[in-house]
Amino acid sequence: MGREIYFKMESIERKSLLYKSKVEYADFCLNHVEGCSHGCRYPCYAYMMKKRCGVIKTYEEWCRPKIVSNALKLLDKEIPKYKDKIEYVHLCFSTDPFMYRQKQVGDLSLKIIDKLNANDIRCTVLTKGVFPRELYKRNDFSGNNEYGITLVSLDENFRKAFEPHSANFKDRIDALRYLHKKGLKTWISMEPYPTPNIIRQDLIEILEAVSFVGQIIFGRLNYNVKSSEFKYSKEFYNSLAASVIKFCKKNKISYHVKKGTQS
Ligand code: SF4
Repeated sequence: MGREIYFKMESIERKSLLYKSKVEYADFCLNHVEGCSHGCRYPCYAYMMKKRCGVIKTYEEWCRPKIVSNALKLLDKEIPKYKDKIEYVHLCFSTDPFMYRQKQVGDLSLKIIDKLNANDIRCTVLTKGVFPRELYKRNDFSGNNEYGITLVSLDENFRKAFEPHSANFKDRIDALRYLHKKGLKTWISMEPYPTPNIIRQDLIEILEAVSFVGQIIFGRLNYNVKSSEFKYSKEFYNSLAASVIKFCKKNKISYHVKKGTQS
C-alpha cells in the first residue's frame, strides 16, 4: 500500500450538500470534494459534466481535488431538513470518498459517515481507493452502512491506463474483504465494464474474486470512443449481464443490471 499524501489540500465552500440523486439505484447523495485525484480515463462522467458547466477547466485541475471545508456545518443544517425524506445517503457520485493516498478526504468522509449514522441515517459508500480498517468499529448504527468498491478488471495494466491514480485492485479487494469479515455489508460496482476491443478478460474470474459481497451492480461503458467502435456491444453486454445474473443467483448475491446495459 502506498504512502498517504499529507500536503494541505485547497478548499472551497458550498451553499448546500445533500441532494436527491437521479441515479437509478440511489437515494440522497453528497459530494464533499470538488474533483478527484484518481483521474479516471473512461472518461469520468463527473469530470465531463463539471467541464461542460465551466466549473473545472482542465483534466489537471480535476485531478487536484478541493475539499468542501463547510461540509460538516452544512450537514448540521440539512439533516433536520431532509431527515424524514432520506432512506440512505450515498458517498459519492462526483468524487471519491476514500480517494487513494488523500488522508484529508478520508478523514472528512469518516466524520460525515459518523454524523449521518449518529442521526440514524445509513450510508452507502463507493470507492476506487482502500477502505480504512477503522470503519468496522465506529458505532452500533454503522453496521447498517454498505461499503462498495468499483471493480471492472483484475488487470493492473488496464487500471493504470483507465484509473491511473486509484488503488491497485488487490489492495482494494483486500480492504473490502476485511470489512466483510468484520460483519459489514459489502458490494461491488462493476461499472463501466469495458468492451473486448479495450481488454480481453474473464468476467467470471473477476466475479469469483469478490464472491463474498452481498450485492453486485453491473453496467456498460458509455462515452468511450473505442468502446463505441465495437460492433457487437449489444450481444456482448446481453451475454455478460446474463452471466452476472446467473453467478449472483448461484452465490445468493443480490444484483442490479443498470438501465441500457441489457437490451
Ligand atoms: S474515481 Fe470516480 S469521480 Fe474519481 S475520477 Fe474516477 S470516475 Fe471520476
